Amino acid sequence: MSNENKSIHEFDFSLICEYFASVDRQGPGSPEVTIKALSFIDNLTNESHIADIGCGTGGQTMVLAQHTSGTITAIDLFPLYIDRLNENAGRLNLQNRVKGIVGSMDNLPFWDEELDLIWSEGAIYNIGFERGLNEWRKHLKTGGYIAVTEASWFTDERPIEIDEFWKDAYLEIDTIPSKVAQLQKAGYMPVSTFILPENCWTEHFYVKQEAMQKIFWEKYAGNKTAEDLVANQRHEALLYSKYKEYYGYVFYIGKKI
Ligand code: SAH
Repeated sequence: MSNENKSIHEFDFSLICEYFASVDRQGPGSPEVTIKALSFIDNLTNESHIADIGCGTGGQTMVLAQHTSGTITAIDLFPLYIDRLNENAGRLNLQNRVKGIVGSMDNLPFWDEELDLIWSEGAIYNIGFERGLNEWRKHLKTGGYIAVTEASWFTDERPIEIDEFWKDAYLEIDTIPSKVAQLQKAGYMPVSTFILPENCWTEHFYVKQEAMQKIFWEKYAGNKTAEDLVANQRHEALLYSKYKEYYGYVFYIGKKI
């Protein structure tokens, strides 16, 4: 298999961090979509405690904070991202309500039934959709919400090239009805699902990486890992433009019952 087809997870993480720390988002999404998903959540007050899991540098965390009034604990595995997130919170004067901490989604630092809302954009795949839904549920109060984005198939069948790409990248990718059934089985009432529009992948994600790709080419000329990372991202962007009718990210919003 060529390097272009390798999953990003096989590359050197510190280079990935440097690359992605330079952009607002580390996954597809947009402020508009975060606000739309938030419109389905009706239990929030000044007292609410929200967790943003796999927050990256906090693109969506800041939008959440600006459209809610409670406190947000944002968690990511990578200290560089958390430093950026806390700087961004300070710059926006949100430091009293937004706290970025280093931690892992497979061992969350919350009490049982502590949270009113669990948010996670483009990150639950790191432990798997079903496992995340099941393991995180205990931290939610009854009546609390979960809102996550997850890679999903839009059709029952698809061309082999994109099928193989995703089987290598994330075996748990599945159709929207299957994902909704998993949400329900994990003990949530399915409240809403919607497909993220194309600009979440293009304008807000792949296009934003182009400047860093140029910098990486020059700074790390001859470094195979860096070159592979850039080639991999470009390949992913190309696949998206070719096969966007077949897959994308979907917001899944559920209520703990
Ligand atoms: N929510 C952000 C980042 C999505 S990228 C956005 O939409 O822009 C996925 C994020 O998950 C990365 O920031 C990565 O560092 C983080 N991550 C990966 N494994 C993790 C783990 N085990 N625990 C917490 N965060 C993790």
